[in-house]
Amino acid sequence: MLTRKEKIYEGKAKILYKTNDPMYLIQYFKDDATAFNAKKKGTIVNKGILNNQMSSFIFQFLEKNGVKTHFKEKLNDREMAVRALKIFPVEVVVRNCVAGSLAKRLGLEEGMALQQPILEFFYKSDPLDDPMISETAPVALGWMTQKEVEYVNQEVWKVNKLMTQFFDERGIDLIDYKLEFGKDAQGNIFLADEISPDGCRLWEKGTGEKLDKDRFRRDLGKVEESYEKVCRLICGTL
Ligand code: ADP
Ligand code: UDP
Repeated sequence: MLTRKEKIYEGKAKILYKTNDPMYLIQYFKDDATAFNAKKKGTIVNKGILNNQMSSFIFQFLEKNGVKTHFKEKLNDREMAVRALKIFPVEVVVRNCVAGSLAKRLGLEEGMALQQPILEFFYKSDPLDDPMISETAPVALGWMTQKEVEYVNQEVWKVNKLMTQFFDERGIDLIDYKLEFGKDAQGNIFLADEISPDGCRLWEKGTGEKLDKDRFRRDLGKVEESYEKVCRLICGTL
């Protein structure tokens, strides 16, 4: 049985612990919420429990459909066992519709449809505010090989096809989201981190109601209720 050992990292939303098995870590999901590179801080009651449940469900769905993820098992309300990886310092953002920083950068209306999804890369760096980088930067900077970039790209398109359909069937438009990938000691690449309303823009079909972290970022109210609603729509239970 996997047992929790010492803490190795505490981030803004999660804590990572070593386990008795060097192949695996435990991700503990906190209720802490941050936005604008942690300039705004708060708590979303039970967010950790909901995000653990939603992420576990989505990782299992992706695995069933041929995506290699770091997910091993959900251990309890707030903990998930995952493969220990070296995370590429790259945040991959997939956009199925205009919103957030893209709307701001290009002076476009949020909600504008796109002819095809947009893929963007950002350097995962809190001190630098996650600056945008080009698709060729990770290889040029020695973070990834060309083959690794190509593999990640291929996985992202697979994930996007599966996830847009997954949310669509549950009455939600998947507007945009962030993915992280990492590799194990053997060089195998896995989808990592979490998939939850913290890192996805999710708009309810029909009403267009925002059901994600924008409710916290933009002080829209009903934050907890929205996370609970997404959890119900995704998992069928709370
Ligand atoms: P942040 O580091 O941005 O504050 P979190 O609070 O979510 O974010 O912390 C979780 C950290 O764990 C992230 O930095 C993420 O890249 C990292 N991580 C996610 N999955 C794994 C994994 N399987 N192995 C190692 N690190 C991981
Ligand atoms: N995102 C994230 N972490 C980040 C940056 C973005 O999870 O550090 C997610 C965000 O929730 C949204 C998508 O990636 O679903 C695109 O974010 P955007 O670039 O529009 O930035 P934002 O306006 O959210 O800061």
